[in-house]
Amino acid sequence: MSASATPRFRAPSRPGALADAALPTDPIHWAGSETASRWSGYLEGAGLSGERAADEVRAALRSTCLGVHSKS
Ligand SMILES: Cc1cc2nc3c(=O)[nH]c(=O)nc-3n(C[C@H](O)[C@H](O)[C@H](O)COP(=O)(O)OP(=O)(O)OC[C@H]3O[C@@H](n4cnc5c(N)ncnc54)[C@H](O)[C@@H]3O)c2cc1C
Repeated sequence: MSASATPRFRAPSRPGALADAALPTDPIHWAGSETASRWSGYLEGAGLSGERAADEVRAALRSTCLGVHSKS
């Protein structure tokens, strides 16, 4: 979706309404369109938030694995 597109659907929340709520609550990583800082309330925001949450989980797993390796 381009920034100049005029969506027919109007998202009910203001952009990034729950972006602060997207902060991880270890071990839970939040996703969902309303947590997106861009395109919040739209499908694009849902996809972006999913990618962000997946990146967070990947980084958390990496640091956990590195922690296990450094102890052994
Ligand atoms: C009528 C309508 C028209 C829309 N039209 C557009 C449009 O034209 N373009 C656009 O970009 N966006 C549109 N949207 C918005 C778009 O649908 C949403 O932004 C998007 O689906 C949000 O995705 P999500 O993954 O964040 O949440 P959701 O799609 O709501 O997914 C959440 C999922 O979690 C599940 N769930 C909830 N609670 C639990 C639980 N306790 N345990 C397990 N599962 C649970 C739900 O069943 C659901 O499947 C529209 C929305 C509506 C309502």
